[in-house]
Amino acid sequence: MAEQPSIFTRIINGEIPAKFVYQDDLVVAINDINPVAPVHILIIPREPLVNVYDINENNVHIAGHMLLVAAKIAEQEGITDGFRVAINSGQDARQEVMHLHMHLIAGKGLGRIG
Ligand code: 5GP
Repeated sequence: MAEQPSIFTRIINGEIPAKFVYQDDLVVAINDINPVAPVHILIIPREPLVNVYDINENNVHIAGHMLLVAAKIAEQEGITDGFRVAINSGQDARQEVMHLHMHLIAGKGLGRIG
């Protein structure tokens, strides 16, 4: 049986309405439905890679592009005091949505990781 498209693929395809705070040929960005900080944006590649384990020599430009977009969004949103990016990959990281995405978190002091 074919795998179900992820919730993010359905958002990218317009099946589930969502406001894109940024989009281009490679990625879209949306506000997280359950934000952990005043700014919590998800940067999602249109290609349904699962997580960082799926990055290879042929698609590494997508990972680099996600970081470039994080910087662009930080500028767009006027985030001048710093931000955190994180990509959960796999079980120990508690990845919930099996479609690669980068969290961009900002808008308050975030404390140390862990
Ligand atoms: P993960 O744990 O996989 O790194 O994070 C998945 C994130 O996606 C969570 O922060 C969760 O709140 C967010 N999320 C899950 N479903 C939806 C959705 O339908 N819309 C939006 N905007 N965010 C979602």
